[in-house]
Amino acid sequence: MRIACFLKEAVLLFSEEELAMTKFNKISNRIDSFRDEMIDMQIQLSAIPAMSPKNGGEGEAKKADVLLKFFKANGFQTIDVIKAPDFDTPAGYRPNILAIYKGKSSSKTIWIMTHLDVVPPGELALWKGDPFKAWVEEGKIYGRGVEDNQQDMLASLFAVKAFLAEGLKPNFDVGVALVADEETGSEKGIQYVLNHTQAFRTPDLIIVPDAGNREGNMIEVAEKSILWLKFKTLGRQAHGSTPEKGINSFKAASFLVTELDNLYQIFSNKNRLFDPPISTFEPTKKEPNVPNINTIPGEDIFYMDSRILPEYKIEDVEEKIKKMAKNVEKKFKVKIDLGEAQRAPAAPPTPAKAPVVSALKKAIKEVYDKDAKPKGIGGGTVAALFRRAGFNAACWAKLDETAHQPNEYCVIDNMLGDAKVFAHIFLQD
Ligand SMILES: [Zn+2]
Repeated sequence: MRIACFLKEAVLLFSEEELAMTKFNKISNRIDSFRDEMIDMQIQLSAIPAMSPKNGGEGEAKKADVLLKFFKANGFQTIDVIKAPDFDTPAGYRPNILAIYKGKSSSKTIWIMTHLDVVPPGELALWKGDPFKAWVEEGKIYGRGVEDNQQDMLASLFAVKAFLAEGLKPNFDVGVALVADEETGSEKGIQYVLNHTQAFRTPDLIIVPDAGNREGNMIEVAEKSILWLKFKTLGRQAHGSTPEKGINSFKAASFLVTELDNLYQIFSNKNRLFDPPISTFEPTKKEPNVPNINTIPGEDIFYMDSRILPEYKIEDVEEKIKKMAKNVEKKFKVKIDLGEAQRAPAAPPTPAKAPVVSALKKAIKEVYDKDAKPKGIGGGTVAALFRRAGFNAACWAKLDETAHQPNEYCVIDNMLGDAKVFAHIFLQD
């Protein structure tokens, strides 16, 4: 009698939080049981080189078909394919899949968005094996696309599958978005979806696991503006022995390169959210000028990659650059043409206290025992497209950052761990 009484009290003492905890343990164990299945699917997906036509590929339609089968087999209630027309692909379109797994409430959706496309393998001789025949070695899967972005694509799919297998419901609807064209501008990917659907709502949590670090403690919420400029300097060609008869465009351009370094002093603000915490202005690409040593080059082309803190206006940076170019034109009697190769003003940052950031922090602490911090980065991520459209999106994943490299790999434990982070968020209030 006493025991029964005690038991009853013990049952009553189970708090909501403890119940969520046992649910999470079940889900977590279930995700572990999917390990082999997830590896198999990685290998299967890597065998379909989903490169965009701009990268010499056929697009993502075949890969999308394989994934659609997964959604159909695993209880997703709504599966939409938004097709962006593309007549450079055999299918004639680029697929964007939005799959919804119903939760207890539909008042908001927890979105995980990953991309279907992969970049070309690059120099094959640098690979230890065939990039499109993924292989497993010491806890890692090697192959093109396995980390970028299949690791977290499969993490999102199997996090949901674990709920189905356990007969549990997420607290809110879960949206799995698999988009095309991320590697070549997103025009036929998420930008197309944002322009042609009303799939996303303000209270939704939008997670883009396409940026991160080894520790898994970086939540990307902000970015710098990007400005890529082409400098074409025109002088006059002459024989190398008679420079006075020409105007050395390369010399003038070199002078300009050193002038441009002053931008670091002019735009010297520090912002601790970013790493590095400053704006950067770096000369990068150089086009060949003359093929032989004994000619004074009459034309010179170089490029500069600038990453500008969001507190500065791109226009103000441009104005200073134009002034510097004018001075060099006068000094060397050259003509300098400025061309824009890319101009991407920073999107409004996702606030460091946005619900998507708090949800990620909580889950990362539970799964990886890490205190994750919101951060800004220098490169534009696809999350910026959400931010420009008025949604708070956060990028996070635990990655070794091997994307786009030869011997790209995915740490299998990261794939499982990230699935648990997503599952944890699906159980949060
Ligand atoms: Zn990516």
